[in-house]
Amino acid sequence: MTQWVYSFGAGHNEGRADMRNLLGGKGANLAEMASIGLPVPPGFTITTEVCTHYYENGNQYPPELAGQVKAALARVEQAVGLKFGDTEKPLLVSVRSGARVSMPGMMDTVLNLGLNDATVEGLARASGDPRFAWDSYRRFIQMFGGVVLGVDHHRFEEIIEAVKLDRGVIEDTALTAEDWKEVIAGYKEAVQDATGAPFPQDPEAQLWAAIGAVFGSWMNQRAITYRKLHDIPAEWGTAVNVQAMVFGNMGEDCATGVCFTRDPSTGENVFYGEYLVNAQGEDVVAGIRTPQPMSKARAKPGEKPMEEVMPAAYAELVRVREVLEKHYKDMQDIEFTVQQNRLYMLQTRNGKRTAAASLKIAVDMCREGLIDEREAIKRVAPGSLDQLLHPTLDPKAPRKLLSKGLPASPGAASGIVVFSADEAELRAREGESVILVRIETSPEDIHGMHAAKGILTTRGGMTSHAAVVARGMGRPCVAGAGGITVDYTAQALSAGGHIIRAGETITLDGATGEVFVGAVAMIEPQLSGDFATLMEWADKVRRMKVRANAETPLDAETARKFGAEGIGLCRTEHMFFDPERIGAVRQMIMAEHEEGRRAALSRLLPFQRQDFTELFRIMAGLPVTIRLLDPPLHEFLPHTEEEIAEVAEGLGVEVAAMQRRAQDLAEANPMLGHRGCRLGISYPEIYEMQARAIFEAAVAVAKETGRAPVPEIMIPLVMTKRELDITRAEVERMAEAVFAEAGMRLEYLVGTMIELPRAALTANQIAESADFFSFGTNDLTQTVFGLSRDDAGKFLPAYVEKNILPKDPFVSLDPDGVGALVEIAAQKGRGVKNALKLGICGEHGGDPASIQFCETVGLDYVSCSPYRVPVARLAAAQAALHAGGVDRTA
Ligand code: ADP
Ligand code: MG
Ligand code: MG
Repeated sequence: MTQWVYSFGAGHNEGRADMRNLLGGKGANLAEMASIGLPVPPGFTITTEVCTHYYENGNQYPPELAGQVKAALARVEQAVGLKFGDTEKPLLVSVRSGARVSMPGMMDTVLNLGLNDATVEGLARASGDPRFAWDSYRRFIQMFGGVVLGVDHHRFEEIIEAVKLDRGVIEDTALTAEDWKEVIAGYKEAVQDATGAPFPQDPEAQLWAAIGAVFGSWMNQRAITYRKLHDIPAEWGTAVNVQAMVFGNMGEDCATGVCFTRDPSTGENVFYGEYLVNAQGEDVVAGIRTPQPMSKARAKPGEKPMEEVMPAAYAELVRVREVLEKHYKDMQDIEFTVQQNRLYMLQTRNGKRTAAASLKIAVDMCREGLIDEREAIKRVAPGSLDQLLHPTLDPKAPRKLLSKGLPASPGAASGIVVFSADEAELRAREGESVILVRIETSPEDIHGMHAAKGILTTRGGMTSHAAVVARGMGRPCVAGAGGITVDYTAQALSAGGHIIRAGETITLDGATGEVFVGAVAMIEPQLSGDFATLMEWADKVRRMKVRANAETPLDAETARKFGAEGIGLCRTEHMFFDPERIGAVRQMIMAEHEEGRRAALSRLLPFQRQDFTELFRIMAGLPVTIRLLDPPLHEFLPHTEEEIAEVAEGLGVEVAAMQRRAQDLAEANPMLGHRGCRLGISYPEIYEMQARAIFEAAVAVAKETGRAPVPEIMIPLVMTKRELDITRAEVERMAEAVFAEAGMRLEYLVGTMIELPRAALTANQIAESADFFSFGTNDLTQTVFGLSRDDAGKFLPAYVEKNILPKDPFVSLDPDGVGALVEIAAQKGRGVKNALKLGICGEHGGDPASIQFCETVGLDYVSCSPYRVPVARLAAAQAALHAGGVDRTA
């Protein structure tokens, strides 16, 4: 016979914490607490299988259920020495829902079930406290009426208010037994009015109605919507817990409370929570009376901490807290009730916490010996570290909300509003903190974004240019704030009637997308202490290396500070936007002949050499992957008449000729156009210059520091082996030339980005000419999906919402399509060349789920933006632990 009912408490525990699927979280943990000897009022759990059975069989319970409930109830009666429905000493119970995961939308708890016009008198006599008995009865009618019978709760509140007004009292606790009787008379009328039937008096009927209401609530609209949003299958079902009541509303030596075993916002090892004297269940959260703090340490003047008011019960609670933490090995969120100075536990579960608390609790618990390092590593969500690496708004600071956009890049920043990149750079140079406000950004705004403390756009999504670049730079960014109107001519922005002009201060919270008027106080990030400790532990277990995508010395330094083990992607074109260079870059592009190009390139050579020299110095012998010129040339084209004239003059040609050339260079689909190694093949002198700059810089740094850098030269957008052969030969020729001139040789690698499906599918051929592959998953995602990232914002969010795609594939690597190609390429490549180095350098390199995938296909490293490096270190460690990988912590 199937067991549909599991008892707990009073020495008869049929459930355990690991039975949450069957018993729900609440039921499983009640049984667990009872079995480790904590004071839990006895009761029983009706399993989630009953719920499933009920819905699969036309809303019928299994036939054996009634008998099993009866037997379990009898056991409870015996344990507490009371009888359900007895008019002398009645047993009262609570009926509580409890799914596997806590789920708003489910039926609220009904307390004091079993009371009726006769048993209430018995309760009054047995307890010697009529006020308590009638208060309990009115609570029961109110809860049962609301959640089981569906009577609007306002009706009940109006009735209480009327009686309180009449008696001239403010607090519920001031009402007497007689007052409650009057309230109850009103309640019964309200129930009769609303349902057309008197309030049910038969305790057994009450019990089954409440059980039915819990199972019924599993399919109510609120619960269905919640399940859909959180991917909870309907087959899980909910359990129902029926438990003997304990009373926190029996007088001044009684109380009820909700608390955390540690502070869930800071992680500090102090009791954190609230309690109320002479109260029951939901009173603490209902806000009818002001709850008081638990510990003296957290009490403000005038407050009455439980530690002082009920020292014995508090001491017992402190003991329970220790038992619970030792047992569950995690911070707990608990509910308790004190009845006449005796403590009872009514719920425990792992407590929700902030990122900061999660880190502190994991490290502290490891030091306290509750968990080991591996467990501590698993306890912190890598993505949450992002919040800790940037300044954040002081939660206590006052603020005035202006508008809200998308939380595009975390961190907070205050500064004066400027509306152009040039202005941002200028004002920043004068030492001001600026917020760059644009309708949207483009590659030409990079210098301004760099100079700004934060970026605000009114258009574009989470993968817009502003969002991607800001995340890469570690700048807080709020994108797509559609409620804000920007007027460049008037140099002002407005939202909801509020106007802010250039030069006035605003504050951005990139973690929430909020924009505030004026400055808001901040808290600086803490990179030492617990953070450093956890990172150290993570580094011991991870297999994959973590590198950073960085071009500027500042990025490279930040990357090292965050623990990067090299540069995985240096995008050389990002070095070309500098105002000092852009002129020469434009000349190079616009020149119609090799001669003109070479002249421009020779002007760029010293700049590039200098860039690489600085990077090599900072990276001090660590690997540096440099991608040769990649992007579509149009990104560098002159736009304004002035710019065209300037280039024409530089090249010594007519302005009209330049205009024609600009038209010639324009492409219908630049992303798939003349870019990547296609440029290097059309114009070998470009890659020649870049290779020369790299080798000259490497030689110089090797001579200067005695530590030879190992450049890894990366050829972009290769689709055939032949392309790599040609460009590789070019690079090797330059290497030989520079080595001959310098009188020394250096180690270096030449490899390619795998970012086209054809390259992935022919990786065995390409590997013959490559020392390494780096998966450029941004372009690979675009080409595998046939999806332009710049245009996807218009429909991709809807695709994710409609569940056509589970996630934005530009944020989290698509394992089925893009991932399959990565795996094929890795296998084919390694099949030809065992030692082929494999890495990933798309935005995905900083995404924990994608990093997990990289571990499973055996990549050697991930590379991500400098600020994501700690996230990647932790995610790589978790991936290694998940894969059962190396363990050097022992
Ligand atoms: P929720 O999931 O909304 O927290 P619970 O079932 O945990 O609902 O209960 C709501 C409140 O009622 C809690 O404060 C809980 O401690 C209290 N409560 C539940 N059962 C009992 C009981 N048997 N005796 C006393 N209080 C109870
Ligand atoms: Mg509730
Ligand atoms: Mg609860």
